[in-house]
Amino acid sequence: MIPFDFEYYKPDTITEAIQTFQDIESQGKKVIYYSGGTEFITFSRINKLSADAVIDLKGIPECQVLGSLGEMLVFGSAISLNKITQSNLFPLLGQAVKQIADHTSRNKITIGGNLHSRLIYREGVLPLLLADAQVKIAGKDGEQLVELKDIFQQEMKLESGQFLVQILVEKAYSAYQYVSLKKTKASKVGYPVVSLAAIAKDNQIRAAFSGVCAYPFRSTRMEAALNDSSFPIEKRIDHSVSCLPAPIIDDIQASSDYRKFVLINALNDTMDALKGAIS
Ligand SMILES: Cc1cc2nc3c(=O)[nH]c(=O)nc-3n(C[C@H](O)[C@H](O)[C@H](O)COP(=O)(O)OP(=O)(O)OC[C@H]3O[C@@H](n4cnc5c(N)ncnc54)[C@H](O)[C@@H]3O)c2cc1C
Repeated sequence: MIPFDFEYYKPDTITEAIQTFQDIESQGKKVIYYSGGTEFITFSRINKLSADAVIDLKGIPECQVLGSLGEMLVFGSAISLNKITQSNLFPLLGQAVKQIADHTSRNKITIGGNLHSRLIYREGVLPLLLADAQVKIAGKDGEQLVELKDIFQQEMKLESGQFLVQILVEKAYSAYQYVSLKKTKASKVGYPVVSLAAIAKDNQIRAAFSGVCAYPFRSTRMEAALNDSSFPIEKRIDHSVSCLPAPIIDDIQASSDYRKFVLINALNDTMDALKGAIS
């Protein structure tokens, strides 16, 4: 049970959502956007989150788009993880989100919710960082299209009242050879000890990670090490791991030494799988 009362709004348009947010906030109330609602419900039940009002984005048509427009693939922020996988529009994204939670939860969890999760994993962002995705953001100053990498710095950095409307990816990215690996502590369903997404583009590997450090990331230094063909694969991987952007997590799921061991194995598997497509 959610231990507090809250108002529920389901706007039909982007403008109405923004206006509703401003109206409620101007009354001194705490308001949050809501998409799949799984995190809102889970955190509210255990008193880790509270709100006076929620704005459900699922009624906004732009947030429900799933398809292609010209050379771009478009993913509405309120699209569920299962629908993304079933669409097969961007196979790497479909595979990466298929490894999040269980099938029933993925019917509810949305890509917008995953990218804005309070949990550190946000695994859906990995393929999007590799694909130089753009995001459409709405706020009181209107809509803007920005590079995901400019707005995702460890987490989504939106201003108060802004929300994610859509994610856009060039169609070409759906054709590159890819790897999506997730290693958990025990069962198939679980938070990642290491989650890795990689593609081979123009003879070069791009790789992004979750579960290794306290936030998901793509690192140009790690990629440069992996792509340095003057060294054997083993040395490239060692060098790449020495370039991690933050300390390796050490927690109840896995020690940092174990995570490092799993990361090295995952990188070996990745290099092996992509060896035909890189120099
Ligand atoms: C059983 C279970 C297992 C899980 N395992 C994993 C895992 O292995 N890896 C992983 O990465 N995650 C995992 N998660 C976390 C899950 O991806 C997040 O909790 C996610 O936030 C849920 O999405 P939702 O659409 O239900 O979010 P909601 O509850 O709707 O929202 C979550 C947050 O995102 C914000 N938000 C939602 N949509 C938008 C938007 N369009 N614009 C701006 N802000 C928005 C909300 O305000 C809220 O703060 C798991 C969750 C569950 C329930």
